[in-house]
Amino acid sequence: MKTYKIAAIPGDGIGSEVISAGVEVLHAMATREGTFSFQVDHFDWGGEYYKQHGVMMPENGRDLIRHHDAILFGSAGHPEIPDHITLWGLRLNICQPFDQYANVRPTRILPGITSPLRKVQGPELDWVIVRENSEGEYAGVGGRVHRGQALEVATDVAMFTRGGVERIIRFAFKLARSRPRKHLTVVTKSNAQRHAMVMWDEVATEVAAEFPDVTWDKVLVDAMTVRMVMKPESLDTIVATNLHADILSDLAAAVAGSLGIAPTANLNPERNFPSMFEPIHGSAFDITGKGIANPIGTFWSSVMMLEHLGEKPAADRLMSAIERVTGDKRFHTPDLGGTARTADVTAGVMEAIHAANA
Ligand code: NAD
Ligand code: MN
Repeated sequence: MKTYKIAAIPGDGIGSEVISAGVEVLHAMATREGTFSFQVDHFDWGGEYYKQHGVMMPENGRDLIRHHDAILFGSAGHPEIPDHITLWGLRLNICQPFDQYANVRPTRILPGITSPLRKVQGPELDWVIVRENSEGEYAGVGGRVHRGQALEVATDVAMFTRGGVERIIRFAFKLARSRPRKHLTVVTKSNAQRHAMVMWDEVATEVAAEFPDVTWDKVLVDAMTVRMVMKPESLDTIVATNLHADILSDLAAAVAGSLGIAPTANLNPERNFPSMFEPIHGSAFDITGKGIANPIGTFWSSVMMLEHLGEKPAADRLMSAIERVTGDKRFHTPDLGGTARTADVTAGVMEAIHAANA
């Protein structure tokens, strides 16, 4: 029997609440399938660790998870520590060195969930956003000079390499090809950002030639927000830069009903390093410790993890269990307008896993 080694990093805030729910569900999945099991190793990195050690994770931290099959991540963000320290010290400190350059964010309106878009019921909205996850506006290039003085200057340089753009656009075309619609929308801002974004457009045209069976179009990022709201059915697979896709995917999560549902995968497609799976949401200080965090985003991220591990039937079964539970309003947490607690949703999904046959 195959044993998958999973590194669980709950991080801060509701991270530990949703990750412990996720781990419970993963073990239930393994029991249900009977063909694999999980060895889950927990790492207590994050804000509390920082308060004790002055760093978000130990210096040899990546060595400790380097040979795991996947990473399940909660959230980086602590009320007493500046966000750029928690983000760069933990999440980006894993994503960047592990070259998880493809951030994949599916968006659908699950059964029982009401979209804030009046006309959207469900099937007309089925997107996957591919976010470039290794460079661009979040490359970390820049600095501050004359700190605190009148002359102070601060720069964040959006850094794009042709190789980096090519690999993400090729990844997006491949993903688009694997989906029924076979359509890719390339998002840039090549009117105002006239260097790197123009290169994106050029690279997209070049790479598109390798995918004659995939249709594609381009749209500027500001117009894209309008299209997502007004014509959601015109979109399928979407690729955009680190910053642009970060913003678009929060909009996507909102349109799909709640930030608490949305999943994401940080993939190293070449599998030279472990990939990382996490809900899109953050630490949610306002509801931390109340037991009402929606664990669906973590469960859906676990579906993506199972797919990545090659356990497609298990992934499909977990997804149907999730959809069965969202379809039942008794399992809606307060972010969805219900009164269910994290533990109720978790129990509901576990029951649906065991009830499902085939
Ligand atoms: P957030 O996602 O933590 O919360 C935004 C709102 O959504 C809050 O009202 C929260 O209660 C609600 N919400 C989020 N997840 C939910 C869930 N699972 N169930 C129910 N409600 C949920 O975003 P924020 O408030 O901007 O950030 C809080 C902290 O989290 C900050 O420190 C930020 O840096 C960090 N953060 C981390 C990540 C990450 O690690 N990937 C992502 C976003 C924010
Ligand atoms: Mn974000």
